[in-house]
Amino acid sequence: MMSEQELREQLATCTRIFAMQGMIGVFGHVSVYQPDRKTVLITPGMGSNKGSLEAKDMVATGLDGKPRRGTEGPPVEWPIHTALHGARSDALAVAHLHTPYATLFSIAKREFKPVTLQGAIFSDGVPLYPEAQLITNPARGETLLKSIGNKRAVLLRGHGIVVVGQNLPEVLFASLVLEDDAKKTLQAATLGEVGTISPQECKTFGAEIALERRAQRAWNYFCSLEARWDKQASTGRSELFP
Ligand SMILES: [Zn+2]
Repeated sequence: MMSEQELREQLATCTRIFAMQGMIGVFGHVSVYQPDRKTVLITPGMGSNKGSLEAKDMVATGLDGKPRRGTEGPPVEWPIHTALHGARSDALAVAHLHTPYATLFSIAKREFKPVTLQGAIFSDGVPLYPEAQLITNPARGETLLKSIGNKRAVLLRGHGIVVVGQNLPEVLFASLVLEDDAKKTLQAATLGEVGTISPQECKTFGAEIALERRAQRAWNYFCSLEARWDKQASTGRSELFP
């Protein structure tokens, strides 16, 4: 099991990678949960520079959103994270983002379906949280839980996305894949009808290569890019599937 300091460092790195990729900016936050201590570590709120966050900048709270120490609280939409961490043992890491392409599926009246092999991790679909509102209290967090069910991600109407995973590398990978599939769907649609990967095809592909292995490879790759990123917005950008 990772120590709190290691988790803080991994969370800071994950968030800087999202910033490098242009997937997080003024808004958006990422968290990781320590079930044994019932402690949530979350990135600081609105306006913090996500591209330069360090381990010490992470805010520690309980599942009630109250800071464990100090006066700095979590981002206003903390109930997204606490609801998921508290209810799902497979949601130890959570990202709430407003990425340019996946967010379009929270606006267009069009269901998200995987269009690439890597997109197979979303074979169960990505449901929609129907309310056009920020998730700023536990009641809304409960509604979010109902919307996402046991799925890996949920779209927030007219707003953004939430992606969950067993750990931060998995959340990073899944978020990159969701964004990439959303982008490719949009681009392919300009050429004509969009073909999707069927649930059976998704299952077959998923059985051939473990998600954990793919997530770890992507994590190592993006960590190495981030290590030499000059921290200017988006200059380190690279595609998961260039
Ligand atoms: Zn938001």
